[in-house]
Amino acid sequence: MVHIVGAGPGDPELLTIRGHKLLSEADVVIYAGSLVNEDILKFCKAEAEIYNSAQMMLEEIMHVIILAERAGKSTVRLQTGDPSIYGAIQEQMDAMTARGIEFDVTPGVSSFLAAAAALKQEYTLPGITQTVIITRRGGRTPVPDTESLKKLAQHQTTMCIFLSISLIDDIKRELMSAGFKSSTPIAVVYKASWPGEEKVIRGRLDNIVQLVKEAKIDRTALIIIGHCLDPRKEPLPQSNLYSPKFGHMFRQARF
Ligand code: SAH
Repeated sequence: MVHIVGAGPGDPELLTIRGHKLLSEADVVIYAGSLVNEDILKFCKAEAEIYNSAQMMLEEIMHVIILAERAGKSTVRLQTGDPSIYGAIQEQMDAMTARGIEFDVTPGVSSFLAAAAALKQEYTLPGITQTVIITRRGGRTPVPDTESLKKLAQHQTTMCIFLSISLIDDIKRELMSAGFKSSTPIAVVYKASWPGEEKVIRGRLDNIVQLVKEAKIDRTALIIIGHCLDPRKEPLPQSNLYSPKFGHMFRQARF
């Protein structure tokens, strides 16, 4: 049996209880070494076979899994954050399905959620935006034309931009051409949740490129933009959820 497990964003304490259990029982662990915090491997059994998939190709990963299956061993495929977000996991799930290998998936805390925690920020503010877009800038992996940053930014929602910090100049240009003003607040979170390594940079579109360069951040970072980050002079409109005028399944309206 193969368990695909989201390792969370970096802090070992953000691994789920189920992920911890599967990892501590696994005979074989294949982890995405480019991003998974190796401190999480301390939860593995001493005799577990551990492979770093950063140096492996799909066929090699499958080979390790197939040998483990033949030997009746349990395998954990450890992915950073949540496996469903830029995890390149679908091709591995398809390859397992094609070979009749049984697997299940344990979700993880994605880095865009750890970034919100680092920023102490809600992404979906009443009266401001109710939508979060997860995207990336096209690079060596292309992004469909219909999803260009310029097109997505026209919605003026909260945007969490993955895998793109080295392209921050292009991102700034595209966001501005989509109508974001140069004074729009933008944040970059590096190694969200990693003990002792997290960095939070808050700036505006017109100075973020310089701030990121000064901080020497060129990887493992998320770019967050949207009006949820705007400084507020007025209090937010109250959410319906806790409003006395608004009843729902668990509470009656009081007015
Ligand atoms: N599945 C992962 C994302 C993998 S893609 C998840 O759910 O988070 C790798 C990209 O994710 C990185 O280039 C970076 O943009 C982002 N990332 C991963 N971990 C991060 C962290 N702890 N802090 C900030 N960004 C992170």
